[in-house]
Amino acid sequence: MKKIQMVDLKGQYEEIKEQVNSSFETILDSSAFINGPEVHAFQKELEGYLGVKHVIPCANGTDALQICMMGLGLQPGDEVITADFTFAATVEVIALLQLTPVLVDVEPNTFNINPIAIEKAITPKTKAIVPVHLFGQCANMDAIMDLAKKHNLYVIEDNAQGIGATHTFKDGKKAKSGTIGHVASTSFFPSKNLGCYGDGGAIFTNDDELAHTLRGIVNHGMYKRYHHDVVGVNSRLDSLQAAVLRAKLPKLDTYNEKRRAAAKKYSNSFKSQSDIIVPTTVNGCDGICDTCDCHVFHQYTLRVLSEKRDKLVQHLNDNGVPCGVYYPIPLHNQKAYLDSRYNEADFKLTNQLVKEVISLPMHTELDDEQIDFITKLVIDFLNK
Ligand SMILES: *Cc1c(COP(=O)(O)O)cnc(C)c1O
Repeated sequence: MKKIQMVDLKGQYEEIKEQVNSSFETILDSSAFINGPEVHAFQKELEGYLGVKHVIPCANGTDALQICMMGLGLQPGDEVITADFTFAATVEVIALLQLTPVLVDVEPNTFNINPIAIEKAITPKTKAIVPVHLFGQCANMDAIMDLAKKHNLYVIEDNAQGIGATHTFKDGKKAKSGTIGHVASTSFFPSKNLGCYGDGGAIFTNDDELAHTLRGIVNHGMYKRYHHDVVGVNSRLDSLQAAVLRAKLPKLDTYNEKRRAAAKKYSNSFKSQSDIIVPTTVNGCDGICDTCDCHVFHQYTLRVLSEKRDKLVQHLNDNGVPCGVYYPIPLHNQKAYLDSRYNEADFKLTNQLVKEVISLPMHTELDDEQIDFITKLVIDFLNK
C-alpha cells in the first residue's frame, strides 16, 4: 500500500506536468511575472466556470476577504457576523479593519453558521454576514440571503473551502458557491480544492461597480496610473500561479468527483457504526449521492464521542495514518478574539464540536486499499 498522506499534491502535478512546465518556461522567457496574460486568461476562465461576472485575482484568501470588506466600505465599529467554528482568517481581517467581529454558533450536521444564531446577533450596527462554506459545502444560503434582505446587510461568502460546490435553493434554482452573496473570497493555497504552487486568491462578484472598486483596491487604490483615489493594498496573483491554476481548473470537477467518491466510500463503511456521525448536507442528503454536487469535501470530518477523539487521533497516527482536528479551539475562546459580551451558553455546538471532530485523509489520490485500511483502523478502535 502507498504511504497515506493527509493531502497528496504530487499525483495532480504528474498529470499536468507537461503543461505547467511549458507555461513556466514561456513565462520565464517573457518576464511577464505579474499581471501577465496568464493571469487575465485565468480570470476569464474562472468567470466562465463559476458563471459570475467578475473575478478579481489577488495574493491569497485572507487578502481576498479583507479586500471584500474594504470594497464594501465597511467602517470601524461596524459589526460583522461570522461563524465561531472556522479558520481564524475570517475573524482576523474583520478585527484588522477595526470592524467588530460577532461570532455565532454553528449547526450540528453541516458545521456551518446557524441562521437562527445570526438573526439573534443582529443589532442596528450590523453591516455584514460572512458565511464560511466550511469543509466544502455551502452554508444555508436560502436563510442567510433572506436575513440579509430583511435587515439590509451585505453577505460576503468565504469560499476558500467550497470552490466547485453547487448550492440548490429551495425553489430548485442552482448556483455555484461564491456567486450567491454580494461578494465572495476564495483561496488557492496548495491544499485547497483548487490550489496553486504558492499563495493565491480571488474575489468574485456580479456587481459591476463593486468589481471596479475592488480592482483598484488590490492595486494600491489606483484606477489610473499613479492616481490613488482610495486607500488600497498590494495584492496580486502572479503569472506562474495563474499558469498552474489554468492547468487545474478544467480538472476541478473531476478532482471534486474523486473527493466525493472517497467520502462516499468512507461514509458507507461507517454506516453501521452508531458512535460515528458522518458528514451530512444542508439538504439532508449525505452529500455523496450520485447526482449530488453540493459538497466538495475539502475535509471529510467525522464526529466521535469526545472521550475517544484524542485517543483515536493517537491510534491513527501510531499506525501511519495522518489526520487532523479542524478546529481544536472555538474562535471566541482564542486570546486575540476574547470579548466580554460573549456568553458560553450561546456556543453550545462549537464547544462540543471542538472535542468531537476528526478529519480523515482527503485528497484526489486516495485509493480503495488506503480507505479500507483507514476505516478498518477507526472501526476496530471504536469497537474495542
Ligand atoms: C484557507 C482559508 C482562508 C485563507 O486563505 P489563505 O489563502 O491561506 O490566506 C480563509 N478562510 C478559510 C475558511 C480557509 O480555509
